[in-house]
Order: sequence, then C-alpha cells, then structure tokens
Amino acid sequence: MPRSYVAEARRRVGPKRARIRPIIERLAAEHADAAIALRFRNELELLVSVMLSAQTTDVNVNRVTERLFEKYARPEDYLAVPQEELERDIFQTGFFRQKARSLRGTMRILLEEFDGKVPERFEDLLRLPGVARKTANVVSAERGSPEGIVVDTHVRRLSQRLGLTKEDDPVKIERDLIRLVPRADWGRFPHLVIWHGRRVCDARAPRCEDCVINDLCPSSRV
Ligand code: SF4
Repeated sequence: MPRSYVAEARRRVGPKRARIRPIIERLAAEHADAAIALRFRNELELLVSVMLSAQTTDVNVNRVTERLFEKYARPEDYLAVPQEELERDIFQTGFFRQKARSLRGTMRILLEEFDGKVPERFEDLLRLPGVARKTANVVSAERGSPEGIVVDTHVRRLSQRLGLTKEDDPVKIERDLIRLVPRADWGRFPHLVIWHGRRVCDARAPRCEDCVINDLCPSSRV
C-alpha cells in the first residue's frame, strides 16, 4: 500500500487513543457471546486446555479433553501413567511429545510447590514448563484478574489492521495494547477481537462492508 494512502487512512480514522473505546464498545455489542471457546470445569482443566491449545484449534482441544479429563482429574494422575500413555491420550492435539513432557513437568511442580493447585501469582505460572506468557495471560484472565493481554494470531492481525500497533512480535504488540486498552477491558478485549477475526475480519478475505468498526479502521476497504 502506498505511504500516502496509509497516512490518509490514518488521518481519516483519527488517533488510536480516541478510537479504542468505541472499538471495544461496538465489538462488545456485536459479539455479546464472545468468550473463551475451551471447555473446562476447574483451574487445573483450564491450565491443561490452554497448554494443549498451542498450534491447534480450540475445537480440537475440546474433542481431546472431553475424554482426557475423565481419566486425569488430579495432578497425580498425569504422573501415574507412563509418558507414552499420556502422549497417546493427547496425540490429536499435535506436538504431543513436547506437550506430554510439559504437562508432566508442570504437574510435578504443582504437587511439590503448590499443594497440587494452580499457582495464583503470574510469575509462578510462568515458571511452569510449557507455560509462556500467552498461557499465563489466558489463565489469569479467566480467573478475572488479567495481568496482561492475550495476543494470538487474530489479536495480532486485527491490532495491526486497526492501526493499534506497528509491531509484529506478540510481546511488543501486547506492550502496545497494554498502554492503549483500559485495564478493565484487558480480559474481554482479546475475546472480542478473536471473535471479530473469526466472524468478520478474516485473514484472507475481511468483510469490511459488514464490519461495525469500518469507519474506525485505517485498513477498511469500504
Ligand atoms: S474494516 Fe475490514 S480490515 Fe478493518 S477490522 Fe473491519 S473487517 Fe477488518
């Protein structure tokens, strides 16, 4: 896209600080049902689901965890079977060897240091094997006390299209969003953006003509 066109588009929609609230409000009205798609009944299941969701879809994870959580209800259960058995049980989520190793390492720490519970503190979550910032952010947000903003592929794409960041690296994008999005919205912002990305702002064919924030978007095609 020529530079002059980008500059003109930015001028047309105005500064991001002025746009962020109407963007959130309109997306919230449009996607009132936006919520985490993973299915879980407690914090342990939440943590496991998010760990398994790396590089695969939430639908796929839910298919696997439906059976998995019947067999593995407590951290001990993940350590009571041979690693190969756990690998077979999570095989369909992909990267099963690495994920099984991370799950067992995590369960060991939960038992040794946290009384078998998922730790409360964000820093402690980050110490668990296989738990990076995104996973810790999802767990914290679902607990109602987000420490940051989840950046997945949809959040990355839409944040760039909406001109909320010029960065490409998820950690830097999160840093930009934290400065911009009101803290009270850190939890719901990613859900709204993810659902808008799935339903309207498709990676290849965004439906700008049907988009409720097209007058606030410098990438709009209408
Ligand atoms: S106007 Fe188009 S590019 Fe911008 S958020 Fe909407 S669908 Fe995506």
